[in-house]
Amino acid sequence: MEYRLLGNTGLRVSVIGIGSLGFSRVRATPEKVEKIVNRALDLGVNIIDTAYAYGEGEMEKAIGRVTKSRRKECIILTRSHLRSPEEFAQTINESLQNLNTEIIDIYQMHDVTRPGQFERLMSNGVFHELKKAQKAGKVKFIGISTHASPEDMKKIINCGEFDVITVSYNLINYQRQTIDGEDISITERETLPLAKKRGLGVTIMKPFGGGILAKNPLSEVKISPIQALKFVISNPCVDTATPGVGSIAELEEDVKAGDPHILLSREDIARLREDAKRWGPDFCRNCGYCLPCSEDIPIPQIMRLLMDYKLGEKGKKNRAKKAYIDLKVKASACTECKKCEEKCPYHLSISRKMKEAQRIFE
Ligand code: SF4
Ligand code: SF4
Repeated sequence: MEYRLLGNTGLRVSVIGIGSLGFSRVRATPEKVEKIVNRALDLGVNIIDTAYAYGEGEMEKAIGRVTKSRRKECIILTRSHLRSPEEFAQTINESLQNLNTEIIDIYQMHDVTRPGQFERLMSNGVFHELKKAQKAGKVKFIGISTHASPEDMKKIINCGEFDVITVSYNLINYQRQTIDGEDISITERETLPLAKKRGLGVTIMKPFGGGILAKNPLSEVKISPIQALKFVISNPCVDTATPGVGSIAELEEDVKAGDPHILLSREDIARLREDAKRWGPDFCRNCGYCLPCSEDIPIPQIMRLLMDYKLGEKGKKNRAKKAYIDLKVKASACTECKKCEEKCPYHLSISRKMKEAQRIFE
C-alpha cells in the first residue's frame, strides 16, 4: 500500500481508504461493518471516512466496534451535517462516543454545497463550534466536504481555515467547462492544484461516480474498479480516495489499486478518459449542477430512481417506486422550462426524463 502525506497535517494516509456509505448500500449489519473494517486495516488501509448523517450516528457506532481496540491503526474522518451551532457541537460529542475515542483525527462540516451555505456556516456559530472543539482537543484537524461550484470551492480553500477538503472526483463526474469546444476539467486544472498549493489535505469521495462507474450495465464500456481508482490517485494533488465498499471481496479488489507497482501510463489515462466519454448520453452523473429547478423538483434524485428502476432487479424496482411516491415534488411538476438543461454539463434532456419518470412512477 502506498501512503501519502495528507496536506500539511503530517498524517500519512493510505492512498486507498475506506468510505462507509457503501455499507448502507448493502444494508450491512454492524457485525459485517466490523469485519470489513478490520480486514481493511489488516490490508494496510488506515483512513476511515464516515459521517454522523449515515444512520444518525449508527454507522459511526459500527465503526467504533473496531476503533475501540485498533484506534492507533486508523485515522478517523467524520463530519456533521447539522446546521445549528448547538446541534453541531452536540454531534461532535456524540461522534466521540460513537467512535470510542477521545479525539477525532479530522472533523468536517458535511456537504457544504448550496450557494451561500459556506458563508452562513462560517458566521452562524457552526464554524466557531468546530474551532472550539479543536481547541478543546476533541478534534485534531478540521475541514469541509463539498460539491460546491468551482467558485465556492475556491472560496473554501482560500479562506485558509481548513486542513482537509473532501471532494468528488472520478472519470465521469468532475466539474467541467467547455472552452473553445474543448472539454476542460476545472477540478483538475484549478480546484485540486489550488488545494494542494494551499497545503490542504485532499480526500476523494465517489471515486466510482457514486457507485455507478464500472457497474453500468447499459454501457458496453467496462472500467474496472482498479482502473477507476488508479485514475483518481494518479492525480498528484489527491492524497487518498475513499471508495465505499459492500463486501470483503470489493474491498480486496479496491485495495489492489493502492499497490505502487501497478501504474497507469499517460496512454492508459487517455484511453480511460475516452472510454468514459462514451458513457451513454442519457447517463446522469448525479452532480446536481442542474439545481435549483424552478419548480423545486429534486432532479438528480429522480434521475437516480429512474436508473434504479430501469436497471435494477425486482426488489430495487419496488424500492425506487416507493422512494418516488415519498417525494414531496414529483416529475409531473415539470413545466418544460428547460432552465436545468442549460446548466447540465452533460447536456441531458432532463425535461424528457421527467416525462419518462412521470409515465413510469405516476
Ligand atoms: S425543465 Fe422541468 S425539471 Fe427542468 S428546471 Fe424546468 S421545471 Fe425543473
Ligand atoms: S441531470 Fe445533468 S446536471 Fe443534473 S445531476 Fe444529472 S448530470 Fe448533473
